[in-house]
Amino acid sequence: MNIESKIKKLKRNWLRYFMFIVGFLLLVSPFALVARTGLYLMGTTNNPAWQQASTDIPDIHSTCLRMTVDWIFNGDILERVAVYPLRGMILVLLPIAFLFGPLFCGWLCPAGSFTESLSRLVPSKFKMNLSNASPTAIRYGFLAAFVTLAVGIKFSDVIKAKFSSVCCSYCNFALTNRIIEGAFLLDLRDLFFGHWTSAALITLFLWLFVFGIFMQGGRGFCNFFCPAGALQSLLHFLGSKLRFTYKIRVDQSKCNDCWHCKNSCPVWAIQSGSIKIDRHLCNMCKECIIECNHGALSFSRGP
Ligand code: SF4
Ligand code: SF4
Repeated sequence: MNIESKIKKLKRNWLRYFMFIVGFLLLVSPFALVARTGLYLMGTTNNPAWQQASTDIPDIHSTCLRMTVDWIFNGDILERVAVYPLRGMILVLLPIAFLFGPLFCGWLCPAGSFTESLSRLVPSKFKMNLSNASPTAIRYGFLAAFVTLAVGIKFSDVIKAKFSSVCCSYCNFALTNRIIEGAFLLDLRDLFFGHWTSAALITLFLWLFVFGIFMQGGRGFCNFFCPAGALQSLLHFLGSKLRFTYKIRVDQSKCNDCWHCKNSCPVWAIQSGSIKIDRHLCNMCKECIIECNHGALSFSRGP
């Protein structure tokens, strides 16, 4: 795609890019407006979510979705939310995903939007194309392993000793926060050296480069390794069976098989053959609707 068509695409999708910025402002420090507002309403500046506090600055840990997936399945979630209500953000996102799809993933997630946006700057010839490989099995397999570990940590001291830090060590949300905070506060230690464990470096390499910038769509990490996204997708898949829920729908009679929608989908959710949406992957970004010149796609209710 040449520069001119990239600019055209940017203009058509301005609202989505605007929402990416909003996502950063709401969740990522040094802004973290959701966390700041929450602390203000609680009448404190101490961040109870940041347990080994090296700083009181609210950051993405305050609204982390990964750890809350752990807590849902090990039964701790209500107890944790009682201490710090912002921990319950995922409890709001799950019914939204059931009724309207994983809108958070497609419109607000700072980690996913970061890699997707950077990937768009790279010419397609430098990017791996796995769009014909359906990642659904790996995606749910990873979620199952993540949940199993969470439950195992609760009931086994041996598992706890070995794996209790896995969730955070391999976290793309935490890395997004570290990079952005380091850049804005001009904290070179945070940006380049501080806290960069070997696990964080491996995750950085996989999330940002292999499955991000140099992957078709820039959302490979979301597709394969995000437990929060997989859980929302599972609910979207179940919800999409019902007539009153919203989903991307295809009017086959209007489709002329041009494949513009398939090529624009960042998460490879549009399958070959007659156009079909994979509900296990679709993150409701609506890029396909914008790209379709024949009005064959819509975000609407129905069978
Ligand atoms: S962009 Fe529209 S017309 Fe083209 S293949 Fe997709 S649904 Fe069909
Ligand atoms: S199918 Fe459409 S709405 Fe769903 S992720 Fe792909 S481009 Fe976005």
